[in-house]
Parts: sequence; C-alpha cells; structure tokens
Amino acid sequence: FTVLGIETSCDDTAAAVVRSDGAILGESIAKQDAIHAQWGGVVPGLARDAHAAAVGRVVGEALAAAGLSSAADVDAIGVTVGPGLEICLRVGSAHAIELAQRHGKPFVAVHHLEAHCLMARLAARAAAPPGSAEQLPFPFLSLLVSGGHCQLLLCRGVGDYAIIGSTLDDALGEAYDKVARLLGLDVGGGGGAALEAFARRGNAANAPLPVPMARRKDTSFSFAGLKTAVRTRVGKLDGGGSEAERADLAAAFQLAAIAHLEQRLRYALRWCAEQRSAQADAPIGDAADNDGAARVPPLSALVVSGGVAANALVRARLGALCEEHGLAMHTPPPRLCTDNGVMVAWAAIERLALGHSDQAEGTEVRARWPLGAALEVTL
Ligand code: ATP
Ligand code: FE
Repeated sequence: FTVLGIETSCDDTAAAVVRSDGAILGESIAKQDAIHAQWGGVVPGLARDAHAAAVGRVVGEALAAAGLSSAADVDAIGVTVGPGLEICLRVGSAHAIELAQRHGKPFVAVHHLEAHCLMARLAARAAAPPGSAEQLPFPFLSLLVSGGHCQLLLCRGVGDYAIIGSTLDDALGEAYDKVARLLGLDVGGGGGAALEAFARRGNAANAPLPVPMARRKDTSFSFAGLKTAVRTRVGKLDGGGSEAERADLAAAFQLAAIAHLEQRLRYALRWCAEQRSAQADAPIGDAADNDGAARVPPLSALVVSGGVAANALVRARLGALCEEHGLAMHTPPPRLCTDNGVMVAWAAIERLALGHSDQAEGTEVRARWPLGAALEVTL
C-alpha cells in the first residue's frame, strides 16, 4: 500500500509518497531557512504563513513525482500532529484531514520524534536485499539530536519508547544554529550545515573548549554553557576575530559537543548493561516489580536520528563508539535526517502495518508531546 505523508511542524513544508515495502515514490520539500535567517530563529507567524502558502503545491509535487494525479490515488494519509509549533502543525494537519475526508482515506496522526527515529528502519530496509529479514528490529537505543530535542530513547517497539536521557537546556541543533550566528556565518541554508562546513577549515586545538558536564556521571545533556563559552571567546577576539580564528572556534565547539554526546552515550550503555545484569540476577517474579530493570531489553543497535545526525563528524565519532561496544549504528541518509515527508509517511506505514490508524475528524495537534515516560537513570 502507499501512504502520503505531510510535515509542517517547524520550518519545513514537506510531503512524500512512500510504499509499504519502503520504496520512496515521490517527495517534495519547501525549506524556510532563508525566510527566518534574518531573525535569529524561526518566527512562528512567518512559518505558518509560509506553510499555508506552500502545502498544497508541495503535496501536489510529491504526488506528481510518484506518478499520481491526486490524493485519491494513495491508500492512506499521515501527518505530523506534534510536537512542534502549534500554529504550524495546524496547517499540515488541517490539510491532511481535509484530504482524508474528501477521499475517504485512513488517517494516521504521526508523532514527529517517532518519525525521526523510525526513519532509520526505512533506511535499513532500503539498503537490504529484497525479501531479507528485518535489518533493524526492535529493541534498539536511539540518540535523537534535532533542532528542538536531544534525547536518548529506549525504542522497544512502534509506539513504545522510554526516555533515558534528555537535555537540561538547549537542543544540540539549536546550539549549532546559535553558534553559527555567533560566528557570523550565512545561515540561509541552515545553521548546522554552515557550521559543519566552516569548522572543517579550523583546528580545534588552537582554541579548545571544555566538554560540558564532564564530571557529571549521568545521561543528561547540556549545551547552553558551551554556547556561552563560544560567545565569550568571540567577544574577546579583536573585531570578532579573523576567519581562521573563528573557524578554530567552530571546530572546537563541534569537538566538545560531540565528545559530550559520546560521554553521555557511554553512560547510557553502561546503565543499560547494569540494568540487564540486575535483571538476570533477580529471582523470577521480581523482575516484573522492578519497572526500570524489567523493561531494559538487550540492545543490538544504536540509531542516531534528527537533523544533527546529518553531520559527518557526529556519524564518524559515534560510529567508532558503536564499534567499540559491538553495536550496529544506523543513521538515515543525511538528507533524510532533517525534517522531511518520507519519515512521516513511513511512521504512518509502521502504524498501519500494526493495524493502527486514527480518527481524522476532531484530531487535535499537540505542541508538547513526550515520546514516552522518562526512566530514572542513576549510575
Ligand atoms: P525537532 O525535530 O526536535 O522538532 P526540528 O524538526 O527543527 O526539531 P530537525 O529538522 O530534525 O529539527 O533538524 C534541524 C536541526 O539540525 C537544525 O538545528 C540544524 O542546525 C541541525 N543540522 C542540520 N544539519 C546539520 C549538520 N550537518 N550538522 C549539525 N547540525 C545540523
Ligand atoms: Fe524534526
């Protein structure tokens, strides 16, 4: 079966048609980076207006690319209903609800963060020979690093997630965007990508920055201090510094941020291993009473998803860490790490395959919507 997915939760208007075997039949995206570049962040009202202006065209382009003439030709429609900017979410969901009702199609209300995570399962399937066993089965650990989130998730199944670490302040993508601006980069094509490219010209050793919370033994993240450290350093540079000095700072920011990810991941993996051995030692019958331990399954893979997972250094460093731990690392192809319609269509397919769908009528958007309960993690 084929599904049309629609995404308008932040600053990308995106749509795609995906088939249940994972084939991407058509996609289209209208990015708003250039609209928001001059404002220092996404301006919700401008974003909503741009979504409203683009959504019909983007959906039409995705359908046309799939060789379809209208939404009547797909089998179901999925749309991101949260979390995200409320007034932006409403644009996509109203459009999807209208299409689903007009054409009498099943409707799936998609969780944006679940869609980021599940994207890796589509990528793994696409890379495998047809008919082969599932390449990325549940359960797995997921590091979600995006513009609005930085979370470590135990992914036990579709719709079954637990948060075992999250940021105390900024998301990593947000920190990338802010640091890109601090360094005066052109963020019209996205702050993270601009900073990554600029950092390649610098040498972190010339301006080392401390790894956040290096002495704190837990799975929480923090990027605000690192961002402030960059601001302070830039302020001390004569006239904002030379390009070479700023590139050194960009490289140092990246190195410290990624070292922080690595350290938190090591703690998370240690905690998971400890929970599992506690579980193995517990007398039969006890395990069910111990909520945390009982539900930490054996993990075979790490999924890195969200916009920052497009970053080559993040992929390389975390890939090496996984190898060290005997874990397979899965990341979507870079262009499918940032928001897109494919991940929404695929998340809908995963839910439909389990027999789940939602009532289009009366569907509300959810600006705040945790993907799962937070487990207490102590080391
Ligand atoms: P969320 O998914 O949490 O709601 P979002 O949808 O805005 O937030 P994404 O689209 O997943 O976030 O990712 C966008 C973020 O990814 C931006 O903050 C951007 O700076 C960052 N990003 C994109 N490419 C790169 C890169 N190459 N290196 C680092 N960061 C990047
Ligand atoms: Fe996103």
